[in-house]
Amino acid sequence: MSITARSRKRLWARSGNRCAMCRRELVREGTPPDGDSIVGDECHIVSATRGGPRYDPEFPREKADDNSNLVLLCKVDHKVVDDQESKYTANLLRDLKAAHERRIAVQLEGFDSDKQPVRIRQVAENVPNFLRRIRSGKELLAIMSNACAYALDYDELRNEEEVDLVSGFLQDAQDWGELGLDEVGSRMRAAQSLDEHINGLEQSGFWVFGCRENQLIEGGDGPASGWPVAHLRVMRDSNPEIIKMNENGAGPSKKDAPQGDAPDGASRRM
Ligand SMILES: [Zn+2]
Repeated sequence: MSITARSRKRLWARSGNRCAMCRRELVREGTPPDGDSIVGDECHIVSATRGGPRYDPEFPREKADDNSNLVLLCKVDHKVVDDQESKYTANLLRDLKAAHERRIAVQLEGFDSDKQPVRIRQVAENVPNFLRRIRSGKELLAIMSNACAYALDYDELRNEEEVDLVSGFLQDAQDWGELGLDEVGSRMRAAQSLDEHINGLEQSGFWVFGCRENQLIEGGDGPASGWPVAHLRVMRDSNPEIIKMNENGAGPSKKDAPQGDAPDGASRRM
C-alpha cells in the first residue's frame, strides 16, 4: 500500500502546508531555475513496519496509509517524534494534528466571503482581574492544557542567563500546553518538568502567575464556542504590582509587595 494522492492532498491542505508541531512552512518557493523545496514529511502516526515508531500489531494494516494515520511534520520534528516514542505516543500525535488542523481551519474561515467573519472576543464576566500565583507544574498544566491561545509575558530581564531561564520556561510551558496530554503518565512527566522550572525561577527571584480566561469564538460555519486563553506571566518577586491576597482569597488586602512567602500572591492583570 502507499499513500494515495487524495490522502496526500487532504493532509497538506488541512495542515495549511505547515508543520503540526512548530508550524514552519513546508514548501519553500524555488528561485529559477531551481524548483520549490519540500521540507515536510508525511509521517506515519503508527508505523506499519514491525519495530518502526509506535508500531502496534493490533493496528489494521490497511489503515496505515490513511489520512487519519498521517501527520505532516518538518524534518526536524519528524526525527524528534520518531526518536522519542515514549513521549510522542500515537494518541499525542493525533491530538497534535487535530489541534493544528483546527487552528488552520479557524484562520481560513475568515477568508470565506459567504460566511460571517470569524472573531474572537472577550466575555466581560470572564475577564480576569488577577493572575494567581502558580506554585506547581500541575497547577500550571491545568491553565495551559489545550488552550487555543497563549498570552505570555515577563518582567524586564537583566542578562543572558535570565533570558535563557525565562524563555526556556515559557517555551516549555506552551509546548506542554499545546500537546494536550490526555495520558496520566505524560501529564505527570510534564508536571515534574514544569515543577523544576518553577523552582529554578523562584531560586532566581522570579514568581510565576497565571490564569485561564474563557473567550468566545464566533462567526464562520458553526455556533459560537469557547476559546480558552492561557495567561502566563513571570514576575520579579520584588515587582510592586504583586498584591498580597487575604487569607480566604476573596481579594487583595494589601498592595504592598509581599515579603517572603505570600500564601496567595497575585498580580494585577495588565
Ligand atoms: Zn516542525
